[in-house]
Amino acid sequence: MNSESDFIDYLKTQVQTVENLNMIKYFENQIKFKQQTEHYKDKIKVSISLIKFIETMCPNYSNVTIFGSFTRNLLEKIFMNSSEKGFGNPINHDIDMTIFDDISNYNREKDNFNDMISLFKILANNNSFDFNFYGYKIVDVSDKTLRETDLSEFAGFGKRFMINLPHFVLVLKKDNIMIKYDLLAYKVNHDNNWQNEYNINSLSITNKGIIINNPNEEKSYKFFNILHSVLEKEAVCNIPFEKILDNFLIKSRGEKIQILNQIIWFMTNRIKILSLGYKKISSDFKFIDYIIEKEEVCDLTGNNAPYIKIKLECSHYVSLMGLIGITNIRTSDWTESIKCPYCRASLNIKLIEIKPSEIIVPSEPEKDLINIDDYEIDMIINSDDNQNYISHILHKNQVPTNLTPTTESQTTRARNNYIASSRRSREEYFRIVQNRFNRDNDWGGHDEDRVIGWGVPESNQTRVREVPSP
Ligand SMILES: [Zn+2]
Repeated sequence: MNSESDFIDYLKTQVQTVENLNMIKYFENQIKFKQQTEHYKDKIKVSISLIKFIETMCPNYSNVTIFGSFTRNLLEKIFMNSSEKGFGNPINHDIDMTIFDDISNYNREKDNFNDMISLFKILANNNSFDFNFYGYKIVDVSDKTLRETDLSEFAGFGKRFMINLPHFVLVLKKDNIMIKYDLLAYKVNHDNNWQNEYNINSLSITNKGIIINNPNEEKSYKFFNILHSVLEKEAVCNIPFEKILDNFLIKSRGEKIQILNQIIWFMTNRIKILSLGYKKISSDFKFIDYIIEKEEVCDLTGNNAPYIKIKLECSHYVSLMGLIGITNIRTSDWTESIKCPYCRASLNIKLIEIKPSEIIVPSEPEKDLINIDDYEIDMIINSDDNQNYISHILHKNQVPTNLTPTTESQTTRARNNYIASSRRSREEYFRIVQNRFNRDNDWGGHDEDRVIGWGVPESNQTRVREVPSP
């Protein structure tokens, strides 16, 4: 054997190995994708079944609304054909649900609501009922309603508004698969900069369809923009950090602590969208300048990587753990005045611009739009008059005398009109189209404008000129 053929054999085995590895990866990926899809299908079926049940139990004022990751997944699923890291993966995500639109509707139907929760509890504690939601049985109900005493002075930001709001976690199970529901009695309407923090999380599903929660009318929160964001794997944040940090340095210590705790809470709990397949967080406002430390131990707290570091105005980076210590632990050296632990400058958060990616919109064409002859001629091969003529005969079985063709046939006239109109300016053409759609009962006399062009309003299409009976 010569060395060349040895080498070729070697290459063949290498290629084979790589191919096998790729195939294994491919199949693993497909299995994962299939599992996720089956899981999501189950979630949809169980949710519909559960919602119908809730509507039966609270028939008068309920308006069950699903929000959170379940609705985001719905859009993500559209753009997937294999499993991707985190993106569109419904496994291990609870389903968030509110039952009433507000507290007053809840109060009106409180008794029914309580009966329903009692029933859930009975079902969870008794195996003898064959009562299930698309094959899933309730195995646990726990009351997670937040009480005033559960909250410390500064902690629990993002939770304060949930005090005394009936909150239950419902666990349903079939074989080894569990689906968890986070059930809130009603929606909370609170003036809060921190709600619907990302456009991709602002969707909810109700009986009326997919609803976007966009109280400030942000552009990024319009449905097509949300679709664009999901497609681009970008989360657009609408928290106005600049406004929140306005005049930070002259604020009282108490105010500073509250703001910093809110920011730390956000960075701890909400940046996780980046581990769910999203590549970028952008904002129409300014965003916090942060990095994810992946190796170094935190020099302030000794905690291991990974963790988030945020940039201060003095250009030092401080870990979230370090910042929460500086802000809240009263024995800390820097607590009293809230200073940078590295340079002792007054602590302030640095913000930067990370604008949402542009949706490509073509600029206006400079030339006239009207030069697609063939298409336009097609449109006028059978003018309305001719169609009306035919349909009239078909229906009345005779030729109406006042609909006989004029000296110049309608088609020729329309054709000539079309040629004339193609020399018109674009503005004029738009005006004609506009007029045509605004006009209602003037069928005769304006054929010139009406016959040509881009479709005729429905009201004109079906009308037949009034014919006196013989
Ligand atoms: Zn510093």
